[in-house]
Amino acid sequence: MSATGDTNQNTFLLEQLGTSVPGLELQISNLSLYQTDIYYVAEHPPLALASPASAEEVKQLVLAARRLGLKLASRGAGLSYSSGYIPANDRTVIVDMTRMNSIVDLQPEDRYVTVEPGVTWSQLREALKPIGLTTPFWGTFSGLYATIGATVSQGGKFYGSASRGTSAESVLGLQIVTGTGEILTTGSAATIGEASPFFRNYGPDLTGVFLGDCGAFGIKTRITLQLIPAAVETGFCSFSFDEPLAQLGAMGKIGAELLASECLGMDPFTARSRMAGEGLTSDIATLLGVIKGSGSIFSGLRDAALIAASGRRFSEKVGYLMNCICEGRDQADVRSRMRRIREIATAAGGRAIPASIPRVMRAMPFPPMNGLLTPSAKRVNWLHTVVPNSRGGECFSKTEAVFARHARLMKDCGIDRGYLLSTHGPSGVGIETLIRWSDAPYAIHTHFMSDAEKAKVRQRSENPKSSAAVIEISKDIVADWRDMGGVHMQIGRKYPYLETRQPATATLLGDLKQKLDPDNIINPGNLFSTLK
Ligand SMILES: Cc1cc2nc3c(=O)[nH]c(=O)nc-3n(C[C@H](O)[C@H](O)[C@H](O)COP(=O)(O)OP(=O)(O)OC[C@H]3O[C@@H](n4cnc5c(N)ncnc54)[C@H](O)[C@@H]3O)c2cc1C
Repeated sequence: MSATGDTNQNTFLLEQLGTSVPGLELQISNLSLYQTDIYYVAEHPPLALASPASAEEVKQLVLAARRLGLKLASRGAGLSYSSGYIPANDRTVIVDMTRMNSIVDLQPEDRYVTVEPGVTWSQLREALKPIGLTTPFWGTFSGLYATIGATVSQGGKFYGSASRGTSAESVLGLQIVTGTGEILTTGSAATIGEASPFFRNYGPDLTGVFLGDCGAFGIKTRITLQLIPAAVETGFCSFSFDEPLAQLGAMGKIGAELLASECLGMDPFTARSRMAGEGLTSDIATLLGVIKGSGSIFSGLRDAALIAASGRRFSEKVGYLMNCICEGRDQADVRSRMRRIREIATAAGGRAIPASIPRVMRAMPFPPMNGLLTPSAKRVNWLHTVVPNSRGGECFSKTEAVFARHARLMKDCGIDRGYLLSTHGPSGVGIETLIRWSDAPYAIHTHFMSDAEKAKVRQRSENPKSSAAVIEISKDIVADWRDMGGVHMQIGRKYPYLETRQPATATLLGDLKQKLDPDNIINPGNLFSTLK
């Protein structure tokens, strides 16, 4: 069936879809929120938003879509920026996974938890807190809304990543509805008879095939995650560096020795706007959050006092910042990790400064989602790569060289840039650049704000000249990272993937897609094509 924009035809298709999946929640108006992600806008609005409540409903939806010639794009909270879920053509139904948001099976003794895909990282952390357990990777900054199903589909990094890897390393098994409508189980849970999802690699690692697939191989309907003991003691330290390359070297070493659970670098501008944007130094709510989020009232009060006291000093000249959170079995363990981090940082030229940012990060790991625009309402294009520890400095320099080449254009178009640097122990460091420019916001940029926050957002109008310049600069950065063999989470249709794979690998990927989704109805384009 060919794609047309015919309204009668579309109405007919949606009626057919509704009849084929009785009980399916289907929204067919007010869909502009779903035509964009945080960076990309699709040529076509979606036909509808379908919100299934169970794996069986997802299965029926896939079977009906296949029969009717519709495309499906699964969506969690929509907090990504790599064209992973926006419509690829005018016959696309967005599949909203947020209704499937139950914690299905929590087994502290066997150390696993099974969740539906719409469970958020914040929801899971709250559920695990009373039993003193955590998942090794335990979420993204966006985890107040970001869903577990989406994160493991596209790959997520941050909380826990400095010593325990990305979202993929925490997954034991999956349930997936493929493009043929089959419900497929991976890991030890696929055993016939009495099965437990406690083990990932029983035979070939089929779970791994679906992690980082950006949803191209099917829609995840259950995820089993590993559980480990939560930290008993936590310590914080921050350092200022004049030299970002020296800082990246230190971050790589901290990862290689598995010293921190999180290690985050920021350029001076990003650090200051994070402090300002979230009112970290003065805002009473933040301080209350720190008190509440700390393990005890005493340590909460101590941390809040330290943050308040450091507010003024923070505004003094800071360079590139490195913020570390260390976890340990006891205080001696934490102290010895912090001591070693201090040695590494000092040897690389870092100066210890008050550790406000990591304290707030740990007390309030999932802040309200008001950072989709900068505090002055500029748009942001986030681009990231992860490279081996030994190449972090080179990657940073190459990225800076691209900005230097485009300095004139950036000045003319009012474009600036910042950095977030991260440790991916033991082997890699992450470089993320935030390219900021003035442009009209999309609906999603203000979607998570309160009315009062929305009213305060500075109005900005469309700026095609600057957004074209952002595309050009971003393309050059991604090309340089590609030449270095950098890897990416969140490939979607943003980063070149298939075209960068060796022929035998590319063939296998194509064969898998053909087997699992022969009519290319699920997240078409993800992994397999790159937007220009
Ligand atoms: C302010 C901010 C902070 C962020 N912080 C981080 C961070 O610390 N670390 C990080 O890695 N990322 C971060 N991100 C990026 C992003 O929020 C995360 O990657 C997050 O995991 C996305 O979750 P989501 O539910 O919003 O996914 P969505 O954007 O809804 O979807 C992402 C992808 O997953 C697919 N998908 C969704 N559900 C399913 C499913 N059930 N089955 C198969 N495929 C599915 C979609 O098709 C899409 O390709 C941040 C983004 C913002 C805006």
